Amino acid sequence: MSQAVLRIAVQKSGRLSEDSLNLFKECGIKFDNGAGKLKATSSNFPAEFLFLRDDDIPGYVEDGVADIGIVGENVHVEVCKKVSEVKKLGFSKCRLSIAVPRGEAYNGVQDLEGKSIATSYPVILGNFLNSHGVKAHIHEISGSVEIAPSIGLADAVCDIVSSGGTLLSNGLKEVDVIFRSEAVMIGYPDMPAEKQNIVEQLLFRIDSVQRAKNNKYVVLNTKTENIPAIAKLLPGMKAPSVFPLAEAGWSSMHSVINENDFWQNIEKLREAGAEGILVIPIEKMIF
Ligand code: ATP
Ligand code: ZN
Repeated sequence: MSQAVLRIAVQKSGRLSEDSLNLFKECGIKFDNGAGKLKATSSNFPAEFLFLRDDDIPGYVEDGVADIGIVGENVHVEVCKKVSEVKKLGFSKCRLSIAVPRGEAYNGVQDLEGKSIATSYPVILGNFLNSHGVKAHIHEISGSVEIAPSIGLADAVCDIVSSGGTLLSNGLKEVDVIFRSEAVMIGYPDMPAEKQNIVEQLLFRIDSVQRAKNNKYVVLNTKTENIPAIAKLLPGMKAPSVFPLAEAGWSSMHSVINENDFWQNIEKLREAGAEGILVIPIEKMIF
């Protein structure tokens, strides 16, 4: 019986590529993605990678040519393919915004009534305008949207923004965020059970990698009498581990803590008698 292999579509080169490939590598999945390759097979996980343009990925997943894929949520929503959103991945965060020439007033979406707006996202923009009962002319263009107002093609634009630098250098200002996006894993809705099973294994690994990224391993020394107070601040996955130091009356405590909680609790830890605090990254975290 042939063993099922999960076909995974990732962007060949662009803003999603590096983080997508890193995600699989952090999950311990090995493959060779040498320059110019269109396909790669993993040597240690039942998966095959297809390297494609991001816009084509939802279509390949809908057709079942790929079982899962990674795209920006903006592309997933825009292209309206029959695929399921399996998991948000937390990278390639950006927003889709309305921008107008810097000198122009903007008091709200009603100001777009009757205007012409250039965008590569006519579906998302159309939904936004409809939901506010605003009628505007959507001028669909596939790239360099931000120059449209300066060449007289449109009154406003609706484009992807991350820092806002490109808008600024084209004399535009961001006035309304209409959609927030991050990378998502999409999947073929009717996957056979054996492939679904591989997806579950993959999701399990992704969860443990993502959890590890948000947490740190903390090691500190303290006088033994301070252990109860410090344990309250560092509950860990179950309870902190406590080891005796080679000096009488002193102990070492080890625990896991969410990085944000760590920074919020650092002063309290020191007040409670923690010394020599080490904060160490965690590679994988499995409950
Ligand atoms: P392709 O050649 O594969 O069609 P592309 O030029 O359409 O690529 P990219 O610019 O690589 O696409 O962007 C891919 C996705 O990354 C976008 O759909 C969006 O979700 C996200 N993205 C776009 N711009 C940024 C940004 N400045 N910062 C972070 N993420 C972004
Ligand atoms: Zn694209």
